[in-house]
Amino acid sequence: MRFVDEAVITVRSGKGGHGCVSFRREKFVPRGGPDGGDGGKGGDVILRASDRLHSLYDFRLKRLYEAQNGQPGQGSQCNGRQGDDLVIELPVGSQVFRFTQGTRSELLCDLSETGMEAIIANGGRGGRGNEFFKSATMRAPRFAQPGEPCEELTLAVELKILADCGLLGLPNAGKSTFIAAVSAARPKIANYPFTTIEPNLGVMLHDGSYDRRMIIADIPGLVEGAHTGYGLGHRFLKHVERARFLVHIASVEDMPEDDPFAPFDLINTELELFDPELTTRQQIEVVNKIDLATPERLATLHEQAAAAGREIFFISALTGEGIEPLTERMWEVHASTTLHEPRGEYAGKIPKLPGLVGEAEIVKDDDEFDESTCDIQVFYTRELE
Ligand code: GDP
Ligand code: MG
Repeated sequence: MRFVDEAVITVRSGKGGHGCVSFRREKFVPRGGPDGGDGGKGGDVILRASDRLHSLYDFRLKRLYEAQNGQPGQGSQCNGRQGDDLVIELPVGSQVFRFTQGTRSELLCDLSETGMEAIIANGGRGGRGNEFFKSATMRAPRFAQPGEPCEELTLAVELKILADCGLLGLPNAGKSTFIAAVSAARPKIANYPFTTIEPNLGVMLHDGSYDRRMIIADIPGLVEGAHTGYGLGHRFLKHVERARFLVHIASVEDMPEDDPFAPFDLINTELELFDPELTTRQQIEVVNKIDLATPERLATLHEQAAAAGREIFFISALTGEGIEPLTERMWEVHASTTLHEPRGEYAGKIPKLPGLVGEAEIVKDDDEFDESTCDIQVFYTRELE
């Protein structure tokens, strides 16, 4: 699965069916009254947050999403059928913006929790049939109401993965190789910096069970100077903003004899400059590529780690050595930590909108948010299984 965290799609609700003009025709009833039925309502387009999806890849392949039109009314007081709603499942962590003239404008909804739903385009109301307009003064209306048109809008979707675990480390430390070793993901791996220009993502299963899973996100290209925009890490740090903990990988090749843990400190300095809050996350320190080190070097590193009071896991992502104790520790930390509170402008929050249903507490986060420009309803439904 290729990881894609941005997509632009167009959604269109169903048109309302037209009302019908019709008059009763029966034997022995010379002038039957009006009996045209109402048109059916068009289907809504609904966005729903699903925790089974982890990428917007599919949305690169299909761009137009349409709900069904309502059927027109018919004679004999038959109302037209309602159009079916279209439910579009998006990965949890998707933020949906209005997209006009090539630029993304206001945030329409933030699908930050599984099962959240938003009606993004309302189906058109069905038109009334002529029977509806019959009255004492107008016994035979020869008109009916047209159905309402559909709503169409273009959306920019941005996915902020809610990674449980963020991978830190210099380029080439072996982060992608580690993800490949513990998950089914097959990220690009190559022996030079910046192979990763998009974040790699792996889902690690506990004993092969999808019920217990951990999303691991590689934060690529966080190198010295990244906070000034030099590296590629910036754009991707959003994916680990809420991570429970971080796994920090250094290659044994990058560790100077006299100051072996310098690579960890270097990255942590970067992190501090970029986002001090991230440095407060629990970190598991890992030394990778131990297959390349001599036994003597390894023994020394173990001693140096003990002397420095650092709990360090020694692994080879390539041969698999040491991976198991590390993943056990990761599950332990996973169990004892929670996803961090969302931050950022609208992160995790939904603007309060008219037409709210359900008992979710909706918090308006930003006074500048203009409700009048926002035309969707947001509500929670039951949790997906
Ligand atoms: P990333 O930039 O941190 O994602 O690093 P990669 O996973 O792309 O690995 C960089 C290079 O190091 C690749 O050539 C890998 O094959 C190699 N590599 C990764 N882990 C190990 C390891 O444990 N031992 C050895 N010998 N090579 C490794
Ligand atoms: Mg990589």
